[in-house]
Amino acid sequence: MRFANQVAVVTGAGRGIGHAIAMMFASEGARVAVVSRNEANAMRTADQINELHAGLAKAYAVDVANRGAVSTMAEQILADFSRVDILVNNAGVTRDGLSMRLSEEDWDTVLDTNLKGVFNCIQAFERPMIKQRSGRIINIGSVAGLMGNAGQANYAASKAGVLGLSKTIARELASRGITCNVVAPGFIETDMTDVLPAKVKEAVVGQIPMGTFGKPEHIAGAVAFLASAEAAYITGQCLTVDGGMVM
Ligand code: NDP
Repeated sequence: MRFANQVAVVTGAGRGIGHAIAMMFASEGARVAVVSRNEANAMRTADQINELHAGLAKAYAVDVANRGAVSTMAEQILADFSRVDILVNNAGVTRDGLSMRLSEEDWDTVLDTNLKGVFNCIQAFERPMIKQRSGRIINIGSVAGLMGNAGQANYAASKAGVLGLSKTIARELASRGITCNVVAPGFIETDMTDVLPAKVKEAVVGQIPMGTFGKPEHIAGAVAFLASAEAAYITGQCLTVDGGMVM
């Protein structure tokens, strides 16, 4: 019960990695604000948590790229839970294509969601964290942001941006008792990677020393560590969880 009496906000918690992170926090005693773009997905995760741990979760449907909507959501979450101890910026999208053919819309959608969305949420919750002089911000990056990936100029740029943003936030908020770190997943079994052609999956697995895709729970475990008391003196770091892909 590492997170008893704490409140965690998890974006993109309707599915995949975010769902696993939300379930992990609830299983360790946290109350969870389940944020997803699609209301039905957010509700499903919140209902699942409440079935197992009554009263611990509430659902919020919001597009993290929409600054005004994020600000309204943050006010509502603070009204509902009184405080926020942990913010996990996990919501993310891909719109893949070789740089020569990448449309402006696909560039903007990915940067707006994956980078601006993270900034919107940090800005919405940093003030209450500063006031309470404690907080944990964990942003989900990607190995693509560390090493690039052909066909993902927009996605890799957004995730590299998340790294620079996180280190800056870590420096700005360290003296207020707030840490900010990145977890960079490799290839994890979710809807996002399910759409990859079998040949691409095979090629990817060939680059993973552990020889297999990871599970959402592997990412949740790393997030739990960075959010826990054990990680109190860690900030501005990137923890890669990728079966050894990047080393
Ligand atoms: P999924 O596609 O399975 O789920 C994405 C989640 O993000 C969904 O809950 C979705 O909401 C939410 N989301 C997307 N856009 C928005 C938005 N604009 N506002 C609010 N919520 C949004 O992805 P994963 O679980 O695989 O990925 C989670 C994170 O991990 C992402 O940041 C991704 O980039 C990163 N990552 C994933 C890897 C992988 O191999 N799977 C590898 C490296 C990084 P909804 O369900 O309501 O549509």
